[in-house]
Amino acid sequence: MSIADNIQRVHERIATACARSGRDASEVTLVAVTKQQSVAAALAAVAAGLQHLGENRVEEAAVKIPPVDAAAAQPLTWHMVGHIQSRKARQVAPLFDIVQSIDSLRLAKRLSRLGHERERDLPALLQINVSGEASKYGLSGYHWHRDAAVHQRLWQEISAIMALPGLEVRGLMTMAPFGAEERVIRRVFADMYALRESLDVRLPVLSMGMTDDFPIAIEEGATMIRVGRAIFGERNK
Ligand SMILES: *Cc1c(COP(=O)(O)O)cnc(C)c1O
Repeated sequence: MSIADNIQRVHERIATACARSGRDASEVTLVAVTKQQSVAAALAAVAAGLQHLGENRVEEAAVKIPPVDAAAAQPLTWHMVGHIQSRKARQVAPLFDIVQSIDSLRLAKRLSRLGHERERDLPALLQINVSGEASKYGLSGYHWHRDAAVHQRLWQEISAIMALPGLEVRGLMTMAPFGAEERVIRRVFADMYALRESLDVRLPVLSMGMTDDFPIAIEEGATMIRVGRAIFGERNK
């Protein structure tokens, strides 16, 4: 199977999941995650019609994005989806069009300060740890519907970040636990959707769902999915 064939198959699965949940496929943006993939692989995805690409490490992005942009026939939208170390924050805004992985008020403040050098606000999603796994980054949203203090703290963090200059917060991002049962994964996505609905602000983008779980995420309301392996095959370590 070629990358183009794989993308076709992902589009079909998006359409099926949308049909199952009474949604329109145009509501779901597909981001091809090119981490640990070559410039040629990224360009194959672009040639197959994808405009949104994602990377999770600043160093890798710094060497991959410029050649892909230079060879692409149309402008691309690059998404940062990985944890950003403080000392790498300065490199993020010049490379990426949107940061999906704002996982602390501290990082948001740093990007906001750096953003003063930009003409446009930096589009951003706030990463929420809904599953409660210690290994996952994100503002803590574990058990938010059962614990008013968690919801209160999260709302304070979200509103503090939204008040910062230089960032344009468009939505939320989360990851389900790896290899969990479908009902556990579905509950994480449903919790994320309900959390967004419970907040008194407009956050239209809900980025959730990867290779192993994107159809479930779409059924639970994802507007953006981040897919690597289903498009490019296993990653080159
Ligand atoms: C790697 C990665 C993806 C894509 O994962 P696949 O399982 O290859 O689809 C999506 N989101 C984030 C944050 C990632 O790091």
